[in-house]
This record gives sequence, C-alpha cells and structure tokens, in this order.
Amino acid sequence: MNLGSSPATGLFVRLRAWAEQFPDRPAHVAASVGTTATVRLTYRELLARAGAVAGYLRRQLPDDGSPVIVLGHKEPEMLAGFLGAVGSGHPYIPLDDSLPAQRVASVAAAANTALTLTPELIASLPPDPDAELTSPRPAAPFYIIFTSGSTGEPKGVVITAECLDAFLDWMLGEHAFVAGAETFLNQAPFSFDLSVMDLYLSIATGGTLYSVTRREIGDFKQLFRALDEARLTAWVSTPSFAQLCLAERSFGAGRLPEMRRFLFCGETLLPDTAKRLLDRFPDGEVWNTYGPTEATVATTSVRITPALLAPGGPLPIGRPRPGTRMYLRDDYGSVSSGGERGEMIIAGPNVSPGYLGRPDLTDAVFFEEDDGCRAYRTGDWGRWRDGLLYFEGRQDGQIKLHGYRIELADIEENLLALDAVRDCAVVPVTRHGAVQFLAAFVVPVQIPGTDAAHTEAADQLRAELAARLPVYMLPRKIYLQSLLPMTANGKADRRLLSELAANGGAAPHP
Ligand code: AMP
Repeated sequence: MNLGSSPATGLFVRLRAWAEQFPDRPAHVAASVGTTATVRLTYRELLARAGAVAGYLRRQLPDDGSPVIVLGHKEPEMLAGFLGAVGSGHPYIPLDDSLPAQRVASVAAAANTALTLTPELIASLPPDPDAELTSPRPAAPFYIIFTSGSTGEPKGVVITAECLDAFLDWMLGEHAFVAGAETFLNQAPFSFDLSVMDLYLSIATGGTLYSVTRREIGDFKQLFRALDEARLTAWVSTPSFAQLCLAERSFGAGRLPEMRRFLFCGETLLPDTAKRLLDRFPDGEVWNTYGPTEATVATTSVRITPALLAPGGPLPIGRPRPGTRMYLRDDYGSVSSGGERGEMIIAGPNVSPGYLGRPDLTDAVFFEEDDGCRAYRTGDWGRWRDGLLYFEGRQDGQIKLHGYRIELADIEENLLALDAVRDCAVVPVTRHGAVQFLAAFVVPVQIPGTDAAHTEAADQLRAELAARLPVYMLPRKIYLQSLLPMTANGKADRRLLSELAANGGAAPHP
C-alpha cells in the first residue's frame, strides 16, 4: 500500500487508511485497569473516538494550539486522547495517573493549561462523526513530555511533528516492519518517551499496540499470562524490564514464537542481557538505541551481534540516524577527536525546539549550529571507537533507575521543601554499573532521640515526599543524621554516602 505520507504529519492519512483496510484489527490491547478483563480498541473505534475527542476540544478550547493534559494509565482512551488533541490542533502532555496530585498540578501550572482529559471523560463523549482530524503542521508541537528537573519542578520537552517524523522515518527505514502484521509491546508508561517508539511505530505500520499495565508488571504470573496472549513481534522496553523477564527460564522463542525484534532504549544495555536474549531467541534481532527525550526518543542505534559481544566490554550505542550529526566536546568546549571522551552533542531535525515556557533552561542546553541546525548538549559522556559511539556516563546528577530519568537535585529540592528538613543529599547505590536504588541522607531540624522515633520520622518524611514526587523517585532508604560528611572542598561527600548506603547506611556523624 502507498502510505504517501510521513508518519507524524500524515498521521491521520495513515489512520484512515488502516481503518478502511482492516477496521476490526485491534489498534490497542490492554488489561483493563482494575479488572482482569482485556480491552481491545479496533482501528475503526480509535478513529471514531479520536474524532469525538477532537470535536470536544474544539468546543472547549480556542484554536490557539494550547496544550492539553491526558492523564491516565494504559487505557485505550489514552490513545484517543492523544490523537484527538493533535487532530484538533493541540499538543498533548501524557501523564501517568500514578503521579501525585501536586506534581500533576505543577505540570498544569507550567503548561498553563486547565484542560485535563481522563479515560472516564473520553469514554463519556458522544460520537461526533462530523469532527475533522486535521494533520499537524511540521513545526507544530505534537507532544510535550515532562521530565525530572534539577530545580525540583519538572520541565516540559516540546516535540514537534517534524521531530517525530524524523525519528519515525528513520526507524521505519531501518526495520522491515510488515504493514498490518506487527504487535508491539508497550511497557513504558505513556509519560515516558520510550512509549512513543512503540505507540507510533505501531500506528504507522497499522500494527497492534499491546500494553502491559503496572499491575501486570508487578505480578510475574499476570505478566506472563499477558505475554502468552499477546503474540508480540516487536519488543520495546528498557533493558531492565527484559532482564526481569529473563529471570523466568521459559522466556524465549518457545513461549514467544513470533518475536522478531528487541528494541531497547533509555539506559545501558548490559552485554549479559543482550547475550541471553540472542541465545533464547535465535531468530530475533537485538537493537540498542540511545537518545534523550530532547532529541525525540532515540538518535543512535546498533544491532547487537555476536561479534560485538565477543570482546566482552560495554556495548556501543551505535551510529546517529542519517540526517543527524553527533559529535563530542571535551572539557574545554573543543570538538574531541580520535578516541577522546567528550560530551555528546546532537544536531538535527529530531532535536526539540526547547522546554515549554522556559527560555532560561532552553538556552542553557540548546543552541543553533552555523548552518542553522538545532543542536542539544546531552550532558552524556561518549567516545567513538571503530566508527561506533559508546556511552560513558553522565556529567551531572542525572541518573537512570530502571529506565526512569531522575535528577537527584529534584528529590533534594523536594526534601528541602519539607518543614522537618534542614539539609540533605540523595545518592544512587550502584552495582555492576547500574543504579539499584536511591538513598537519602537527611539532616532533620530535630534529631529523634530513640531508634523508634528515627523510624517514625523517616516514615513521615517518605510519606510527605510521596505527596510531591512520582513513586519511582522515592528513596528506598532515608537516613537521619546530625551532619552530612563533607569533601575537602566543602561539598557533601556523595561517594562516601553512596558507599555507606550500599553497606547499610551506618552514619559517620550520629
Ligand atoms: P530519557 O530522556 O528519559 O530518554 O533519558 C535520556 C538519558 O538516558 C540519556 O541522556 C542517557 O543518559 C540515558 N540513555 C538513553 N539511552 C541509553 C542507552 N542506550 N545507553 C545508556 N544510556 C542511555
């Protein structure tokens, strides 16, 4: 079939084509949140529901391109909300309903939006067969994803239709997906840009998006029941999630016979994970992709082969997509050459125009190249070796925990906002190069006198923090002490604190 359109700017051309060609093919399947029933949304229904959302938004909002929050989990209405928003000229902000109300409110304030679509609201909308779904202009914001910000407030990365086209055109060119025959795993919440890979590759190819919900992810039995039912052909997840599945010995081609591709992004892919997948899925391909939300999901990719695994060292993140340049800058800002380490810079059409309503944050990391191309300083260290890029960690306090991007300063700022906290440091505890959990060292206004009071005060802090931060950002351990150990230049000694937390957290200054 001649798709005749780019996947993002021509989204509705494709969607209508699929709805005509196979109206009853499921566009989305997910376990119904809160029950054990699976819910399916066909292409015909998706188009109709997106139209109902677009009609509703046109009645509710001026035609000003203002963003709309879509707040839920993996309900099929979420997709209708995203497409209906875009089709009526509004970018959407996907938020997971596990977020505390305060964080949702701070996103709404930052985006200056009062309109929130929920699955319940979307389900209640009457059909609107006359509603138009209008294709977005290339420069129009398509979605805005909020990520952890070091100021304690999340920041909104604006992604235009042009950015999304650049990403999807590349992925569609690199992988021979079969139109109307793919089923993509959706593991990441829609609020995390990894989900953009599965969601829009699925829609672009007339595929089925199969969502596993947080309830299934938290229960191995339910998870594997879903995976048995899903008949997945393409796996999109963080490496951590695949590692979790590999703990089940039957996770392999016998159980998932149609699986052809594993697409990873968001954190380091360990050689052991890739090797075990290639062993268990002899006909499957394993791909490592890399990129920040600010450059639309992923910018580099590489297929992991036995030859790449043979030397036994870290795996590469690959080569940039055609049409996007990547280069390295050393500590002094000059372009690194040879095999020198440097900060990875991305310049190309997939780079975001910046952070929503925050020119200050935008100017700090985005800039224009001499040829007018948008560029982004990633804050990631990288190195070229044999024509491939290797990721070598962060320059700052941003970490990845199970694929979630977290600014440690975001947690610290939110701790400092609590009345009982005088000072604090949050540190990652790492094993085999991957963060295992976070620990907070807190200097309280008043040190509790007994062990029981210590535990109670730490629990209280955790509860107060939970009202402000997503659950994945909550430190597993909170230690109270009268002082933080300092380095020679007067900063909290994070290395020492990390070691203490790894060894059970005995405080040096009780
Ligand atoms: P996010 O914006 O949530 O996608 O996080 C982007 C950050 O995740 C990057 O700046 C890297 O620090 C890290 N990251 C993404 N992909 C990879 C990868 N394949 N290997 C190692 N780190 C990665």
